[in-house]
Amino acid sequence: MVRHNLLRFLNGLATRFYARQYRDIFRKDFSRDLFAGEVVRSITWPASADGSGPLRQSYSEASGVKARLAEASGVARAAFNLNLDDFSTQSRRNSRYDYGGAVGEGVNKILGGLMAAHPELRVTLFAVPCAHYVNSHGIFYGTTWHKGRFSLAHPANRPLIAWLKSLAPRLEVAIHGYHHFRSWPPLFLAAAEFEFASREESLERLCRALDIFASAGLSVSGFRPPAWGIGYNSDFGLLSALRDLSGQDTDLGRSRDNAQQHARTIEHAHGRNQDQTSFKYVSASSPLSGLNWDRKRVSNIYPERYEGLLNLPQNVSLAWPTERILETVSKIVQMGGLVSLMGHMNAEDHWMEDGLGPRNLAKIEAVLEYLRREHAGKIWFATLAEIADFWHRIAHGPGAPC
Ligand SMILES: [Zn+2]
Repeated sequence: MVRHNLLRFLNGLATRFYARQYRDIFRKDFSRDLFAGEVVRSITWPASADGSGPLRQSYSEASGVKARLAEASGVARAAFNLNLDDFSTQSRRNSRYDYGGAVGEGVNKILGGLMAAHPELRVTLFAVPCAHYVNSHGIFYGTTWHKGRFSLAHPANRPLIAWLKSLAPRLEVAIHGYHHFRSWPPLFLAAAEFEFASREESLERLCRALDIFASAGLSVSGFRPPAWGIGYNSDFGLLSALRDLSGQDTDLGRSRDNAQQHARTIEHAHGRNQDQTSFKYVSASSPLSGLNWDRKRVSNIYPERYEGLLNLPQNVSLAWPTERILETVSKIVQMGGLVSLMGHMNAEDHWMEDGLGPRNLAKIEAVLEYLRREHAGKIWFATLAEIADFWHRIAHGPGAPC
């Protein structure tokens, strides 16, 4: 007990020390509104099954709704995605906490039930390929199960992989870090795995994550940084590495030689060529975090290219009260945007405030009921990968939006 308290004390001291040395990305300005700040782009959601043509609309975020919606029926008004962070092989069977790792049990069962009850729903799971977590003292890092068995590619986890695949195409699995945690500098922003990582370190970890997905037979199209740590403390090494791995044209004006050199770096690092490593999108912004932490760099409502990456914004949180959620969803739908409702793959909603506990499940029901009631047949339920595919399609067509 004495030892435990001493460790806690040292933990607190070190955190305070590091918080003074580095930019604390967990400190946020909660007064900022996600709709505030001018960004002007245009967007076209896909036509619905009835064959009506795509719809072009203009918008301005600062002045509110300016979407010019066609009167034509059957055209999607907005897109909707439910995305859940921290899915991993961990469950009560092998760990202290349940992140969906046991098929048909705990939060895994809850998600299965939710998808069965709502056939329209499409979900993106942000998965930790090889989960490592803080031990009970909150100080040391390491596995809490047999080493290697937390990897999605471990043979013991085949039933879990089969379960994921059985829910395709309604369920997409995207990458959410490698371990999710980092160990240096110790303690400070511990969950933000990539926040302090250089481009090379980031590339190395991303390649390991991709290797695990490939070994598990999972295809991958998107990435969300753990704890929204995109590298304010490391010259954005993660973003550079993601650009190296994105299959997109770069609009950074990087020279061809540079691009080839980076391609060689990747090949060298993991014996693969660039075609095998391709992120279609990143989910690197929330209204107060990631790309939008210190100022608004990208829209909170619409997909947007940012320095060679396609960013799909996260904008509504399960941690919010139901009233605020419905108000925000309604406004985004009116603006013809992407509703990206986020929670965590965890059955708790007390210590994990946006987990899939009863309180938050009721909020999801309320949102789906609202969409059914007010916008029946007008919402495009999609995985983030589908939205990215759509965006890439129109981005290369006539009148490309960005
Ligand atoms: Zn996370």
